[in-house]
Amino acid sequence: APALRVSDLRKTYDNGVQALKGVSLDVRPGDFFALLGPNGAGKSTLIGIVSSLVNKSAGQVEVFGTDIARHRSEAMRLLGLVPQEINFNLFEKPFDILVNYAGFYGIPREEAMARAEVELKRGHLWEKAQVMSRTLSGGMKRRLMIARAMMTAPRLLILDEPTAGVDIEIRRGMWRTLREINAAGTTIILTTHYLEEAESLCKNLAIIDKGTIVAQGTMKALLAKL
Ligand code: ADP
Ligand code: ADP
Repeated sequence: APALRVSDLRKTYDNGVQALKGVSLDVRPGDFFALLGPNGAGKSTLIGIVSSLVNKSAGQVEVFGTDIARHRSEAMRLLGLVPQEINFNLFEKPFDILVNYAGFYGIPREEAMARAEVELKRGHLWEKAQVMSRTLSGGMKRRLMIARAMMTAPRLLILDEPTAGVDIEIRRGMWRTLREINAAGTTIILTTHYLEEAESLCKNLAIIDKGTIVAQGTMKALLAKL
């Protein structure tokens, strides 16, 4: 089964805005997939529906073959979500943030501690495991958000404009971490309005504009057409 299959997805908000006008796409297991599009294109709406934060108007979403409407909690267990805004407690230590998050998902403490070490190391944060997270640099805070989402060992990691408004140094640090996660087997989908970001990271992408997919394919094929 595809990591994500979206079929004829439609969303009309209560104010009448048609954010998605029949979107279909497939993301293969192991892919690093970008959903590229300008502001207002419908990217956040699509990600919101896939992660069960926004109700769809019509259409279907499957995560590794599991319909998210029919088997919500089962599908959500396969997903990791990195929110756009930093939303961990700045007065907790990175290690505790990760272990407590895992605990919330029912992961035994021993295992959570082992996973926290792996994720902090992968995020280049291990030396900072025991400092107050308030004192982390901007890039470190962003990578901690990624590490936290990985604590539940998701098969599909979803990021909504993970690098919006952050400078190029910080973006590069996040890209490195994301590449490592993908290389270790986790499928990644991210939304972005930076072509450069999609180009640097992704194998496949879809371009969305005004609620419609306007192009879809490999990065190489799409670049050749530009
Ligand atoms: P993107 O993430 O690509 O910037 P969004 O999915 O946020 O696009 O928005 C798509 C369209 O839906 C835009 O016209 C936006 O104004 C509208 N929209 C987004 N969220 C809401 C909402 N909660 N209520 C009404 N309209 C919304
Ligand atoms: P920033 O806040 O700009 O990301 P950091 O203090 O977090 O800076 O980064 C410290 C050093 O670690 C930098 O030299 C950076 O190149 C390196 N670095 C950042 N992210 C990673 C990563 N994911 N893997 C390996 N090295 C990294």
